Amino acid sequence: MAELRTASTAPAAPVAARDRQGRPLRDLRVSVTDRCNFRCVYCMPKEVFGKDYPFLDRGEILTFEEIARMARIFRELGVEKIRLTGGEPLVRRNLEQLIEMLARIPGLDLTLTTNGSLLKRQARALRDAGLKRITVSLDSLDDAVFRRMNDVDFPVARVLEGVEAAAAAGLSPVKINMVVKRGENDASVLPMARHFRGSGHILRYIEYMDVGHTNGWRMEDVVTAREIIEMIGAETPLEPVEPNYTGEVAERWRYRDGSGEIGVIASVTQAFCRDCTRIRLSTEGKLYTCLFATGGHDLRALLRGGASDREITDTVTGIWAKRTDRYSEIRTAQTAKLQKIEMSYIGG
Ligand code: SF4
Repeated sequence: MAELRTASTAPAAPVAARDRQGRPLRDLRVSVTDRCNFRCVYCMPKEVFGKDYPFLDRGEILTFEEIARMARIFRELGVEKIRLTGGEPLVRRNLEQLIEMLARIPGLDLTLTTNGSLLKRQARALRDAGLKRITVSLDSLDDAVFRRMNDVDFPVARVLEGVEAAAAAGLSPVKINMVVKRGENDASVLPMARHFRGSGHILRYIEYMDVGHTNGWRMEDVVTAREIIEMIGAETPLEPVEPNYTGEVAERWRYRDGSGEIGVIASVTQAFCRDCTRIRLSTEGKLYTCLFATGGHDLRALLRGGASDREITDTVTGIWAKRTDRYSEIRTAQTAKLQKIEMSYIGG
């Protein structure tokens, strides 16, 4: 008798909304701030994002309560993973309070992408608040190259301290993301591989992308995934590994000698739109169905206009159901010039 009762009272598993290409909605990326303490040349070039740049005011950005409400609604729509991004998420004060709220949502995989600059100080608190995993962006071990790329003269050593603090706090394996740009840091590819091989951390190389419309992207500056794998494999043999799940962004490779794994994120040369299950919520509550979108959908007006959860759920379902995005499959030199939304605003 008891068994029967339990079966009928268990909450039904959320049914994933599907887009025009049948892709389920699984991953929500939430940008908690449009601000950053770095000025990475491929994301937030200083000449555009200078001291007079009109960043969003406090009243314009979603509160933690609003983000948590949206997260619950997305969970009901089948979202299994939330990645907190920015700008630089750790510059948003008391972020661990938001993480505590999100960690209470059952069945949610909670992760965060950071530039690591503030991680040494915050790693323990993030973990204690309920963060499960973390990704740290690091574009070189060469201090001069790294300082030039972050363009705020920030030293590598402090990011590496952040990585170790995250691992010590239990946020491991730590994923390390390196954007590779030809003529900028491609000479750092092998030193990064040597440093993280055998460390237990997972290094992923990202092809330089035409995100936003201010980084002056050119195809000739892209070091392809194939070049990167050949470069590393020539030194330490690699073999491909099956993805952990459908829609995983990074293509996995492991060292044949068992000393670890790396990944390549090849949005430019090996588009993965076919399995893209990601949606993005900007700092001020706009929804974007693609990293390379040119426009979004305002949800903040609903949140602050008294809309019910049902109304917001229906709106989001409607937006996703109409989704046809596959930008990386149709990228050209012309599309690269479109007024696309900045990555620093909607998160990577
Ligand atoms: S380009 Fe857009 S649709 Fe394609 S994988 Fe990236 S976010 Fe998804």
